[in-house]
Amino acid sequence: MNTVITEQIASEKDSLFPNLENLFCDINIHEYQNAMHKAQQSVIAFLEETHQPFSGVSPKELRKQFEYIDLNAPPISYDELFDEVNDLYTQHAVAFHHPKYVAHLNCPVVIPAVVAEAMISSINSSLDTWDQSAGGTLMEQKLIEWTCREIGFDQSSDGIFTSGGSQSNLMGMLLARDHFSIKFLNHNIKKDGLPKEAHRFRIFVSEAAHFSIQKSASMLGLGEQAVIKIKTDRSFRMNSVLLEDAVRKEIEAGNIPIAVVATAGTTDFGNIDPLINISGIAKKYNLWFHVDAAYGCALLLTEKHRHLINGIEEADSVTVDYHKAFFQPVSSSGFLVKDKNYFRLITHYADYLNPKDHDEDEIPNQVNKSIQTTRRFDALKLWFTLRIIGKKGLGSYIDRIIMTAREAVEALENDPHFELLNSSDISALVFRYSADPFKTFDLNRINTFIKSQLYKQGHALTAGTKVNGQFYLKFTILNPLTTIEDITSILNTIKKYGNEYIKVN
Ligand SMILES: *Cc1c(COP(=O)(O)O)cnc(C)c1O
Repeated sequence: MNTVITEQIASEKDSLFPNLENLFCDINIHEYQNAMHKAQQSVIAFLEETHQPFSGVSPKELRKQFEYIDLNAPPISYDELFDEVNDLYTQHAVAFHHPKYVAHLNCPVVIPAVVAEAMISSINSSLDTWDQSAGGTLMEQKLIEWTCREIGFDQSSDGIFTSGGSQSNLMGMLLARDHFSIKFLNHNIKKDGLPKEAHRFRIFVSEAAHFSIQKSASMLGLGEQAVIKIKTDRSFRMNSVLLEDAVRKEIEAGNIPIAVVATAGTTDFGNIDPLINISGIAKKYNLWFHVDAAYGCALLLTEKHRHLINGIEEADSVTVDYHKAFFQPVSSSGFLVKDKNYFRLITHYADYLNPKDHDEDEIPNQVNKSIQTTRRFDALKLWFTLRIIGKKGLGSYIDRIIMTAREAVEALENDPHFELLNSSDISALVFRYSADPFKTFDLNRINTFIKSQLYKQGHALTAGTKVNGQFYLKFTILNPLTTIEDITSILNTIKKYGNEYIKVN
């Protein structure tokens, strides 16, 4: 090499003195321990100092504090950092572990999964290929196999961990679309793009299904118009007679039914569509049968209530959300298919990553089945959970939650201040304060007021939703620590705000 260039490199090297004490590696074990310990202390303080689900802070108040933060300022110490994060975040974080948090589908998390999370991000395997994960890939595969067996799928099934139910639903609709097109139109969408018939493809869901199905249809180029919403019956389950009518009607109109999505545990009501009837209709009309069990996968864990999702084993594909009902930290979800060959519809080979000859050598590259490339080792959390708590242990959490929901139904039904819309197969109850015998007040306004008061005070958090244009409050009970006493106390708070509204207005 030219001596001038060599000298130049040597002098540049001298001027580079990066501080490497923050890199995760063997020479910095002490630093790692120290920082982890401080993180742990900060989380313990969060547990000790949190006495209600939410501080009640408004975006405006909190935003003010962000104005003074300069991300280009000189680095600060861990102690200063934890103080800052406490002010900006921890102090106001919504506490899913609090028994009076009964709002959205967020579960409290189990300790073995939290511990695994620390390992996952430290070792940082990426599960796209064998050569970036090794044993991680096999652990994920073993958990997928376990989930498939719990569903009732046989050896030919397969699956993949995903970032969430929305991604799993997208994959379900993607496979449904591409499978239909190859099988019935002899058209390969992966290679050739959408066929001319695509705008006539139809997907059937209940009106209580999750919005991610519609979102999937639009992302897949079918448009939201492809999604036909079937009315639910009085218990908010898809009416399968109306489903068959709708399928026939679409065919008569020249459209092409490709898939039906049954929801096993709707987000609002926790009710399960009639899976066996729907599966029969799917078979009769050659429809892909997807079961969205993001919430209802909880029932896989409990012998007592497992029968409620009978028929799930008939699905072509299933969505499960471990981060909703298996007490796992976000993110942890799964997408399962009855026939592993379906995944070929989405496999792309990249020479640098997962060359085709790896398949022949039986090198397992999970990227072949995923729409992500770099992918977290979320599976380790579920592994820790099953090994430490076990299926039965987790199942007892769910049984308890279902029992509390049933007690809550009783409390709501026996109190004339409330109107309850559903009884849930799992643990979501939709109701409203309705103690206005003369109907002089707008119940939408009263209940909206109650919801915002709850959020402002933060003593208890419920969700809200609309049914037939009317505003309702919603309990999603997903914490085995929540007791009927907690529920009664929340109902009393709701009554207090409701009565207040009536007095003032
Ligand atoms: C929450 C939910 C989803 C979406 O799951 P994410 O993990 O939030 O993406 C899909 N379907 C149902 C029924 C759900 O309740």
